[in-house]
Amino acid sequence: MSQRDYYEVLGVSREASEDEIKKAYRKLAFQFHPDRNPDDPEAEAKFKEAAEAYEVLRNADKRATYDRFGHAGMNGSGFGGFSNSEDIFASFGDIFGDLFGFGATGARRGNRPTAGADLRYNLNITFRQAAKGDEIKLSIPRKAHCSDCGGSGAAAGTTPETCRHCGGSGQVTQSQGFFRVAMPCPVCRGRGQVIKTPCARCKGDGVVEEIRELSVRIPAGVDNGSRLRLRGEGEPGEFGGPPGDLYVVIYVEEDEVFERQGQDLVYRLVLSFPQAALGDTVEVPTLDEPSKLVIPKGTQNGKVLRLRDLGMPSLGGRQHGDLLVQVLVQTPEDLTREQEDLLREFARLEEEKQAKPLHKVKKFFKKAAGKAMGD
Ligand SMILES: [Zn+2]
Ligand SMILES: [Zn+2]
Repeated sequence: MSQRDYYEVLGVSREASEDEIKKAYRKLAFQFHPDRNPDDPEAEAKFKEAAEAYEVLRNADKRATYDRFGHAGMNGSGFGGFSNSEDIFASFGDIFGDLFGFGATGARRGNRPTAGADLRYNLNITFRQAAKGDEIKLSIPRKAHCSDCGGSGAAAGTTPETCRHCGGSGQVTQSQGFFRVAMPCPVCRGRGQVIKTPCARCKGDGVVEEIRELSVRIPAGVDNGSRLRLRGEGEPGEFGGPPGDLYVVIYVEEDEVFERQGQDLVYRLVLSFPQAALGDTVEVPTLDEPSKLVIPKGTQNGKVLRLRDLGMPSLGGRQHGDLLVQVLVQTPEDLTREQEDLLREFARLEEEKQAKPLHKVKKFFKKAAGKAMGD
């Protein structure tokens, strides 16, 4: 299904300011609002389309992504569109609030289906779990429909009754000067129903606290801030509304061996001065078995040697970053007498060696200077 351009949906230019976008959206939302267009699927589709466009364009980051990549860029950004108009009320209540004179969530809806709230769970995992993926068991405290009353809140054998105060609409209108203001019904607290005999287990709430045991598959390659969405594992909806989602937000502990740079891993390898100077073959740790690494002769301090494809996997594990081995050359300490003597001898030979090229350099400059003088 092809999607219409978000700017086109809102009828604004690509350069539109935040304010213009908000105004355009308010106009459309008012025009296609379900309350003004009851049982009109076309209006509802337009209402949703406008909300989706606004959701993206009102956010500078999302807008920039959309400008660059279009609709394709919106996948995986954590934006899944709106499943129903209740979602839209929940997201943009502030806008509807001043459009209709009352908060869009809760009060005015009476017993219309309401989506459950999303939940967030912060999950700490080890570096190795992030690298290899894992299956983790979670115990999530959350609200659930009370099984004794089936979520109605009324004791067995009774049913909630329509609130007489508001006639079941959940709201009452009050006159304040010239204005008529809609308020949540004080008797039923906006629910439209009253419970005469509350359920003993949930005390009339219809929901109870429970601990939900869940198993989450952590894909290899996750990084700090990665979000996993578990559909329908949030809080239950009201009046038959869909449950919310559970977002598991990943925090990866630091590793003692590796430092992560995107998909690459950095390992710091300490070499002795002779190893760096003469070259060597050493073993370096990787995410799996240690790997052999050839240190070339004359390797300088700070040099980075790259082991291809031994870094972190991409999400899904198809590609790997590299393992970057950074060489740290250690200056020898606590030398024995013999070592010191050898080093002095080394230094003397080095000086002798340096003296020759230096002499050549001087000669070169003399010659060059001579040429410049017209020699
Ligand atoms: Zn009422
Ligand atoms: Zn109950």
